[in-house]
Amino acid sequence: MIVGIPKEVKRDEYRVALLPVGAEEFVRAGHQVIIEKDSGIGSGLTNEQYLEAGATLVDTAEEVFAQADMIMKVKEPQPEEFALIRKGQIVFTYFHFAASKELTQGMIDSGAICLAYETLRDQRGTLPLLTPMSEVAGRMSIQEGAKYLEKPQMGQGILLGGVPGVAPAHITILGGGIVGANAAKIAAGFNADVNILDINMDRLRYLDDVMPPNVNVLFSDRHVIRHQLQLADLVIGAVLIPGAKAPMLVSREDLKLMKPGSVIIDVAVDQGGCIETSHPTSHSDPTYLIDDVLHYCVANMPGAVGRTSTFALCNVTLPWALRVAKNGIEKSLAESPELQTALNIHTGRVTNQPVAATFDLPY
Ligand code: NAD
Repeated sequence: MIVGIPKEVKRDEYRVALLPVGAEEFVRAGHQVIIEKDSGIGSGLTNEQYLEAGATLVDTAEEVFAQADMIMKVKEPQPEEFALIRKGQIVFTYFHFAASKELTQGMIDSGAICLAYETLRDQRGTLPLLTPMSEVAGRMSIQEGAKYLEKPQMGQGILLGGVPGVAPAHITILGGGIVGANAAKIAAGFNADVNILDINMDRLRYLDDVMPPNVNVLFSDRHVIRHQLQLADLVIGAVLIPGAKAPMLVSREDLKLMKPGSVIIDVAVDQGGCIETSHPTSHSDPTYLIDDVLHYCVANMPGAVGRTSTFALCNVTLPWALRVAKNGIEKSLAESPELQTALNIHTGRVTNQPVAATFDLPY
């Protein structure tokens, strides 16, 4: 099979879909890898590294799309890429179809076979190709929170860990899933006073077992949330109800409970956000103030740490891509219920029920 890697064209996207070691694995298995030149530069990976791994370098995305049997990407195809995708071509990437009718129609019209990272579910019921990005965003949320609590960034001027004789920052994490647990772990390492809220008691019991003593686990209800907002220097929004818009846990009115200069990092903004006053921002203009509370609501946080995110993503996508390359798409789908969960569109037909339902398309 010929595997093609075009350079990502979405704004603020520095990741690449294949590492040089991945190219080497494909070549060793008898496949060919075609990569657009400079695809890896944003992640600190050079053209030479891909050449040494046995990949073929080409100058344009057009050449990649024209030759490849399977395209591997990071972000959903952009409108300028739609026309390049060929009928029957496998496209393996994050799609998030439900967020865009234009993309869904574009992929239906292209006749591509769309395997979506975000819907691939393993036998344990988890989403292994989504998890690494939640790990990145969770850890990064504390890094960003620490920065924006600094006075020159319009924060209160608070050091997360305090110092002997001065209290550390109070951090409230709404949601104790992958993002929340990773945020808590890093915040605890800073010696902050960390509080995770969740509605899943089994999850709270687990977190209580594994987290260090400076992490409290609390049941998430209106009273606990409002009390936490009064104490918090930093609030992390990390809730998720799979397949649904994030529940709104903090209203505009609630912001009045918070201290001036406190910071909200709403990681869940990509699902609509769990703070009423959240709206998506970008890495080039990440924050805004409402009622003296600084909001950071970047919808693609992992993009800023492209190198870490590229390695984290490629580590988990490569085995699936190798499997598709080895067996071909139809045999791979027939043999793997997990890959079937990744299939969203097959040559003009929507094969994912929620996507079909979102746009009232035949399924
Ligand atoms: P997850 O499913 O692992 O965890 C979500 C947690 O929220 C669960 O433990 C659930 O019980 C809890 N929850 C649900 N309702 C709640 C409520 N009312 N109060 C408290 N907790 C509640 O999800 P995740 O992987 O941690 O992702 C969290 C969010 O972060 C998602 O919206 C995801 O899309 C988003 N995300 C954003 C970025 C970004 O760049 N902004 C990157 C990765 C993930």
